[in-house]
Amino acid sequence: MLIDHLNRQLREREAQALRRQRRIAESPCAPHQRVSVGDAPARELLAFCSNDYLGLANHPALIEALAEGARRHGAGSGASHLISGHSRAHAALEDDLAAWLAPSIPGARALSFCTGYMANLALLTALGDASATIFADKLNHASLIDGALLAKAAMQRYAHGNLAVLARQLERCTTPVKLIVTDAVFSMDGDLADLPGLLALAERHDAWLIVDDAHGFGVLGPQGRGSLAHFGLRSERLIVMGTLGKAAGLGGAFVAAHPTIIDWLVQAARAYIYTTAAPPAVAHGLRESLRLIGGEEGDRRRANLQQRIAQLRSGLTALTEAHPALGWHLADSATAIQPLIVGDNAAAMALAAALDAQGLWVPAIRPPTVPVGTARLRITLSATHSADDVQRLVQGLAHAAKDLA
Ligand SMILES: *Cc1c(COP(=O)(O)O)cnc(C)c1O
Repeated sequence: MLIDHLNRQLREREAQALRRQRRIAESPCAPHQRVSVGDAPARELLAFCSNDYLGLANHPALIEALAEGARRHGAGSGASHLISGHSRAHAALEDDLAAWLAPSIPGARALSFCTGYMANLALLTALGDASATIFADKLNHASLIDGALLAKAAMQRYAHGNLAVLARQLERCTTPVKLIVTDAVFSMDGDLADLPGLLALAERHDAWLIVDDAHGFGVLGPQGRGSLAHFGLRSERLIVMGTLGKAAGLGGAFVAAHPTIIDWLVQAARAYIYTTAAPPAVAHGLRESLRLIGGEEGDRRRANLQQRIAQLRSGLTALTEAHPALGWHLADSATAIQPLIVGDNAAAMALAAALDAQGLWVPAIRPPTVPVGTARLRITLSATHSADDVQRLVQGLAHAAKDLA
């Protein structure tokens, strides 16, 4: 019965070009990667899909730091943070992260998590009790949506980036606690939230601003300090969640905020309390990652990434203008996330397949991850892409455009 029910739904997804399939990476995360699907032999692809924006995931210094962390602290943590799994490595990482965010959040402390998904669940369920209202941008990441759904707080969603609607919602709100929740860089569109405008609203309405900086941390702002630093914001009302599996190249996440908020998360956040602490070697490795991000090498990598973004945008702008009939639309993004919106699910899949046939790996993103009718290629760039790599992608798309026209 259950199996029939599931098979029926799987067939429906297949018919709507919505069925997802995993590929197996046979080599480390990098622009040139060996990949296999099912039993077919592995192929070398040029990939534009990872969130490894600085190319640190396979950096020798980070690999060495991870190995050294394992030698020094062992392989596993053995327990949750509140039992016995909180190692010196976790504590030191939290101190580094607190110092990292201190220019934006005076007196901040930090708490480390296994993943960003869990950090968002922890944060929103622990702060979003029955006395709170959560105000959420409609394009927020799934983990923020799930966290808000799991919280006891009321939820109000505002149209993407619409601060006028948010201001009216805040004016009418009568709960004592108000939490504004937003992605800093929207993960499927690449655009930046108006964080200064949101912080001004938070200050006017005695609300708190929770910023998910998954795609800004390590990339934006001086020394890659993130989206808050990019805008030069500084306030005790800011609560930031950053992920450490994207630009930081390893895995995990953190929340940085007022010390009392961190204390409360340790007491009350179930997604923090009831889970085994990440291996301490990961925390140890992440300290090296912060050194790389904040140093000269980080600056060089960010400069390279900016050049690739500019190169791709000029190539794709020319291409979409040359083929208006295809209805392709390059999203208005200045970040490493450069979506090419195609519209129809099957058309997005066909385009991804046409690129795949040329050895180019770009994921097609379909509903429910993005709104119906806005299926797209989500092109992501990394500091380790060369100018030739980006040129190959632009030419590959031009080739596909001719075939599909
Ligand atoms: C990736 C992502 C997360 C989840 O982080 P993980 O560490 O991968 O679990 C949360 N929010 C946003 C905006 C993301 O892009």
